[in-house]
Amino acid sequence: MIQSIREIHDSFDRGEKKPSALVAEYLARIQASPLNAYITVCADRALRQAIRADEVLLKAGKVPRSGQPLFGIPVGIKDNLALSGVRMTCASKVLENYIPPYSATAVERVEAAGAITLGKLNMDEFAMGGSNENSAFGPVLHPTHPDRVPGGSSGGAAAAVRANLCVVALGSDTGGSVRLPASYCGVVGLKPTYGRISRYGLVAFASSLDQVGPIAANVEDTEVLFNVLAGHDSRDSTSLLSEVTAPAAPFSIAGLRIGVPAEYFVEGVASEIRTAIHFKLQLLESQGARLVPLHLAHSRYAVATYYLLAVSEASSNLSRFDGVRYGVRPQAAVEAGELGAFYRATRARFGAEVKRRIILGTFALSSGYVDAYYHRASQVRKLIQRDFAQAFSEVDVIASPVAPATAYKLGERSDDPLQMYLNDIFTVPANLAGFPAISLPSGEDAAGLPIGLQFMAAHSNETLLFGLARQLEQSLKEERS
Ligand code: GLN
Repeated sequence: MIQSIREIHDSFDRGEKKPSALVAEYLARIQASPLNAYITVCADRALRQAIRADEVLLKAGKVPRSGQPLFGIPVGIKDNLALSGVRMTCASKVLENYIPPYSATAVERVEAAGAITLGKLNMDEFAMGGSNENSAFGPVLHPTHPDRVPGGSSGGAAAAVRANLCVVALGSDTGGSVRLPASYCGVVGLKPTYGRISRYGLVAFASSLDQVGPIAANVEDTEVLFNVLAGHDSRDSTSLLSEVTAPAAPFSIAGLRIGVPAEYFVEGVASEIRTAIHFKLQLLESQGARLVPLHLAHSRYAVATYYLLAVSEASSNLSRFDGVRYGVRPQAAVEAGELGAFYRATRARFGAEVKRRIILGTFALSSGYVDAYYHRASQVRKLIQRDFAQAFSEVDVIASPVAPATAYKLGERSDDPLQMYLNDIFTVPANLAGFPAISLPSGEDAAGLPIGLQFMAAHSNETLLFGLARQLEQSLKEERS
């Protein structure tokens, strides 16, 4: 039984449980779990934190109500966010032994809010992938269907939340990596507005697209975590100065305009997913929402645009892993005696997908091709941004599936990168245009695999997304009971 933050705090308040006992339960579950969700577990560190929390609780008699919304809450952190003194691998052999000397701002914030860090979560190498099969530490298994993928690249994070191996988790989303695994695993995931959460201490994949995002088992916990994470950080030059848009009134479904883009409910999307989402939208309509048909003319270019820009930025960002500035320096490199051989020995440690992207990105940025590829993709990005700006002048939110199909079998798509890339069709626009998007559990298909529904909103409208998400979550709960 997964407990919410509120339920855990109630049990602390009533003296039924103390943080150290809770953390011990989580650590035991992690140890017994076959999912491979964690790369590094920091048990001693977590227990020390928990004992300090025990003392605070004993003295105060209750959970501190201000400044500590995550008091005593076990959290997992994707292994591309730095935690000072604890190994950070990015699921790569290149960073096998890297110990960061500082913590990411996002990590600092959750710990300052009282959270207890259980460890570093498995992921696709350097966050490149959508299935968590590209990890040098082995794939993560789907939490309820272990022959399937949990989605990626934050697969460890989503699987851990679903399997109760942490209460909430931090992921990162460059083209869907929070939302896709959340949808495959049946949990909630948010990709915030670009710049809303600091990227300081997040290992860069594609800097103009990357955002840290919260994953939790329910909407309320996702919002609690988001509120802890959001805010300006002078150490990230792209961090927003403006606040999240405060709603004029409490959320009301009456009159809410939900855009339904024709391009997102097409043949290629599994019919069970289309049906499930239409049903949820009808439910919201019956409660007063207005469904508005939309067209997003440049949608079909989104995947191509994303994969040109993401690989270009990645090829530049990953040049620092050369065995000199960052990255392990294998013995073969030391003995190479010559610069080219030195680089080859070091960079040979990247996995196949990372190498593919570095090569593609280097090509797209090369002097003969930069206009045809990188610059052209940047122009199309503008057109996609314009489509959505126009759409958000007509509707409050846009609904779509998170992915065209539910979780697939391990290994099923490993030989077909293009098919993997196409899976990102509905998630990449939010990164290309920088607006927030949330993935919500929305029923299951015939095989019992979770279906994800995505809501997108204009910049800084996270509060609206949370309001709508809570409304839907509540209605589905009532329907089931
Ligand atoms: N699946 C996408 C990719 O492989 C998204 C990854 C991400 O969001 N980190 O690029």
